[in-house]
Amino acid sequence: MTVPLLDLKSQYATMKEEIQAAINRVCDSQYFIMGPDVAALEEELASYCQTKFALGVSSGTDALLLALMAIGVKAGDEVITTPYTFFATAGCIARLGAKAVFVDIDLQTYNIDPTKIEEKITPKTKAIMPVHLYGQCADMTPIMEIAKRHQLYVIEDAAQAIGAEYQGQRAGSIGHIGCFSFFPSKNLGAFGDGGAVTTNDPDLAKMMKIMRVHGGEPKYYHQYIGGNFRLDTLQAAVIRVKLKYLNDWTAGRQANAAHYNQLFAKTGLIETRNNSDLRVILPFESDQSGQYSLRTRPTENPFPSHRHIYNQYVLRCTDKRDGLRAFLTERKIGTEIYYPVPLHLQKCFAEWGYQAGEYPHSELAANETLAIPIYPELTAKQRETVVEGIVQFYQS
Ligand SMILES: *Cc1c(COP(=O)(O)O)cnc(C)c1O
Repeated sequence: MTVPLLDLKSQYATMKEEIQAAINRVCDSQYFIMGPDVAALEEELASYCQTKFALGVSSGTDALLLALMAIGVKAGDEVITTPYTFFATAGCIARLGAKAVFVDIDLQTYNIDPTKIEEKITPKTKAIMPVHLYGQCADMTPIMEIAKRHQLYVIEDAAQAIGAEYQGQRAGSIGHIGCFSFFPSKNLGAFGDGGAVTTNDPDLAKMMKIMRVHGGEPKYYHQYIGGNFRLDTLQAAVIRVKLKYLNDWTAGRQANAAHYNQLFAKTGLIETRNNSDLRVILPFESDQSGQYSLRTRPTENPFPSHRHIYNQYVLRCTDKRDGLRAFLTERKIGTEIYYPVPLHLQKCFAEWGYQAGEYPHSELAANETLAIPIYPELTAKQRETVVEGIVQFYQS
């Protein structure tokens, strides 16, 4: 049985007519830039993310860039973030001439460790950029306290976390700006590139609106240098259709995660406690520093006001990760490594002077993590096939 890492065709099949009608509506209107669908989507997103404002933008990467531009990050500034994330998080900081000051992750959640942030703050620090990796919010309460104490902005990289909740608050509503991606592999995927920014601050919302169209306000009169960061009307129309199903898909992903955890627990081979002697460590949920639990019930969060949306279900394989991956590939089971090289060790950031060994948790995660299929349409038989494959590998 084939188990792809992601199967967007099965999702499309469930709403094909609806999406095609939405696309046709835009085609008939010939209104392609910032049309009524963009404005409507922005209202729906603001409501979904529990923020006052949401703006559609051209990608998750541009959402991050726009957010950093709006708070005035410039050459010589420092932005604190995690080295264990998608490239764009630090890439956007570098593109503005600023430096990404990395802070290692908590190895249980793979999110930035708030206890290590304060020691990295300098007079040049402008912002903290936590990433809600794999669909689980970073530990935001201590991050917001540190930011307040040092008068720093907090930009949430929520590209993987639309609808995630931390202590009852939605991702993108906790910091000063939230950044989202509609890349097709994200939980809410467009038919191409797309993204959004959210904020509760009217001044930041206004600034991002201006910077999204080259910094001109009114049009052709420029006080600022912005860019073309607009979301296509066609993408907005598609995303609006899909947004209605997002909660159901999230529930599907959560149920799949709970089922995986149950299946792994039953194998006896793979234990569910966090013990570094074990070969496979399952993904923990956490609603605050030092509190960890595994999801075991399909519809019940381990922590009541904490919502992990499982953009990825990621195992940590303390033994032979790459061998396991090859074994599963041969059996047509899709996996991915998010991410094989932590950002402090990327060649393009060599001038920042980071060394191997400086961020041991991130380096360990890069060497040991493996994402297995978690998309909502996955069948029970497929999940069993994945777990059987993993057990077979470690038993052989
Ligand atoms: C996907 C992603 C981005 C970038 O989003 P794009 O829409 O692909 O530009 C940024 N940060 C994280 C953590 C991501 O997962």
